[in-house]
Amino acid sequence: MTLIAVLAGDGIGPEVTAQARRVLEVVAPDLTYEEGLVGGAAYRQTGHPLPEATLALAERADAILFGAVGDPEFDGLERALRPEQAILGLRKSLGLFANLRPARLFEGLEDASALKPEIARTIDLVIVRELTGDVYFGDKGRDLTPAGLRVGHDLMRYDEEEVARIAHVGFGTARTRRGRLLSVDKANVLETSQLWRDVVVEVARDYPDVQLAHMYVDNAAMQLVRDPGQFDTIVTGNLFGDILSDQASMCAGSIGMLASAALGETGKGLYEPIHGSAPDIAGQGRANPCATILSAAMMLRHSLGRGDDADRIEAAVARAISEGARTADLGGSLSTEAMAERVLAGL
Ligand code: ATP
Ligand code: MG
Repeated sequence: MTLIAVLAGDGIGPEVTAQARRVLEVVAPDLTYEEGLVGGAAYRQTGHPLPEATLALAERADAILFGAVGDPEFDGLERALRPEQAILGLRKSLGLFANLRPARLFEGLEDASALKPEIARTIDLVIVRELTGDVYFGDKGRDLTPAGLRVGHDLMRYDEEEVARIAHVGFGTARTRRGRLLSVDKANVLETSQLWRDVVVEVARDYPDVQLAHMYVDNAAMQLVRDPGQFDTIVTGNLFGDILSDQASMCAGSIGMLASAALGETGKGLYEPIHGSAPDIAGQGRANPCATILSAAMMLRHSLGRGDDADRIEAAVARAISEGARTADLGGSLSTEAMAERVLAGL
């Protein structure tokens, strides 16, 4: 039995995961689903955004389909109890250290990109971002200088194992695509980046079929808007990946179209749209379900070894879009449900 934990969460989360599940039920009817509470929805019922029962379900499941967390009602809570903490807690306790974010422009969505159409059309890349290290998790603090000036500091830190394991994900991903891996760092000024580069070069020996190149992050940011077609797979650290992946998303178009995966050492992964809970449109049936449907496709490919089924879903989404199916974020008027039906029709 293959168990999928469905953590729908807040806002539009339940609306979009329901549609992704409909698509999954057609493409992979043998999967079993169990729903868990997460985020504000969980806080409301249990007093905690990530209840023990949900963690236990996530541990037991083969993969996790995640909607979104975040509810303005709980903005005033102390940080540990806010809905957004649930996703951080899940990544941490499941050891999900690799974030995969594909960015491609679906045919017909040129207008949604921040780039000129002829440039936007060339984007087809995936960013592999390290998720559990770097300056986000190093020592932090506030001090005073002897002269009484306030100081803040965050330690940027990677050890070689952390770099090697994300490098393996990068090479493995490149191998399934066009065989080109770009490692992005700032090795001209950062010691962490010099270690990063050394380790990536060492790991490269295991992947003679993948072509490796390096680029400084400032140049990568520039190239991403100048000529995004040059990129295939990009592997980078937590901080650089955070910034570059949002930048790539805007180049590729609507936030309602982009999927992501968080992967660990085992096959288990957590799959979620890159967008949030969108409280402004929640409950209106207007959310674009494609990002979550595409996340479900990534789940089939990366956790369940069913790349063919993933391809079918992605092709069906591309077809619906190219035939003009549009939710409001894409300038159309289809409901969440109607959009999913157009995808189902293309299967
Ligand atoms: P988070 O902090 O969780 O990333 P956020 O506040 O940054 O959340 P989102 O919740 O992603 O942002 O919403 C940003 C904007 O994009 C909102 O106007 C929202 O309505 C819109 N949006 C997000 N997801 C979708 C979607 N699936 N379909 C249509 N519009 C969306
Ligand atoms: Mg956001």
